[in-house]
Amino acid sequence: MKMPKRFRTYCPYCKKHSTHEIERVKGGKASSLTKIVRQRKRHTGIGNSGKFSKVPGGDKPTKKINVRYRCAECKKAHTRKGFRISKLDLVE
Ligand SMILES: [Zn+2]
Repeated sequence: MKMPKRFRTYCPYCKKHSTHEIERVKGGKASSLTKIVRQRKRHTGIGNSGKFSKVPGGDKPTKKINVRYRCAECKKAHTRKGFRISKLDLVE
């Protein structure tokens, strides 16, 4: 997915629309195989084992990304709910 580096959006601090710059932030831990194995262990027993019902894997095809929006006017950054995309491209 391509995203502009700068765009006008609502700033909750200025309480109006202003130019924002996108910053990528590392959120959470990258899923590793050992983590999956530990998760899978917890699911042995009764009931639906959720994403582990599917074989093999257990990892989702896309990753949730975390972006921060920094306001050009007050220099404060705010976040929004992360969304799932496979790749993020920042374009000028
Ligand atoms: Zn602002």
